Amino acid sequence: SIKQGGKSAVQFYSRELKESSLRRMELEAALRDAIDNGEFELFLQPILDLDTGKISQAEALIRWRRPGIGLIFPDEFIPIAEKSGLIIAIGKWVIQEASRLLAVLHQQDQFIKLSLNLSPSQVSDRSLLGFIQRHIEANHVDPTYLELELTENVLVNDFERINHFLSEVRKMGVSVAIDDFGTGYSSLSYLPKLPIDFIKIDRSFIGELIDSDSNRAIVLAILAMANSLKLGVIAEGVEVESQKAFLREHHCQSAQGYLFSRPVPFDEFCKLLRG
Ligand code: C2E
Ligand code: MG
Ligand code: MG
Ligand code: MG
Repeated sequence: SIKQGGKSAVQFYSRELKESSLRRMELEAALRDAIDNGEFELFLQPILDLDTGKISQAEALIRWRRPGIGLIFPDEFIPIAEKSGLIIAIGKWVIQEASRLLAVLHQQDQFIKLSLNLSPSQVSDRSLLGFIQRHIEANHVDPTYLELELTENVLVNDFERINHFLSEVRKMGVSVAIDDFGTGYSSLSYLPKLPIDFIKIDRSFIGELIDSDSNRAIVLAILAMANSLKLGVIAEGVEVESQKAFLREHHCQSAQGYLFSRPVPFDEFCKLLRG
């Protein structure tokens, strides 16, 4: 009967819920220890200048090497870290490690920009700017080679506060990129008002670029807008030659994607740099 079916559906649903919340709790507990146990690693993905075909910058992307389990990707644990507040500590580790890697690159005479991702709650953390400043100084890195990536959704929160935050970042000499551009809910009117250096076109527009008229139109509009606002542009998720050709043809400055390289461990990235 309908009633029985309904009951078993509820039981099934609650078992699923229980399993997923158990998995969450287990992940959260393990995440707490992961920093102290040195289980995080930053992989780097090259960003290429489309004119020269050379690596001009790199994005740092966190990976979690869980002993006995293997590599865990950020989509699985960053949301849990955000809900539990652990993202503050993890985010600080990312800043510390990215500064260290940047210093190693400097020592190898490799002067390329390194960007790292910030979660919205990190931007609300009042100690963040001082923390970044201290790590830049402690590692003797040139701040103009550091870039922070923020998603559009951070910008809609509180304009005055974000404006202040970004201005302070700029004063340090660090630059700012808007990540996953085009997927957020913010209004475009903030763009000329905020101190922003780059926009990163979300890979959802690049992925079907060649087959979709509307995606091509969106990408062209973003390129035109970035050009008139004098913002740098990076296309994310470039996987095939035809996408690269289209972007080049329309003067997109930089691109990142599996066509060039996946995110790789630091040593491997250094080999890519040496070519
Ligand atoms: P994101 O910042 O937009 O990073 C780009 C993501 O796209 C990366 O996934 C990268 O591996 C992937 N990607 C790059 N090229 C291609 C391509 O050609 N095709 C496809 N299908 N994917 C491509 P990843 O490393 O799994 O990171 C996922 C997201 O996790 C990031 O998206 C970012 O939002 C977040 N994340 C990563 N590292 C950190 C971190 O240190 N802190 C914070 N707060 N978030 C992070
Ligand atoms: Mg990013
Ligand atoms: Mg992105
Ligand atoms: Mg993303």
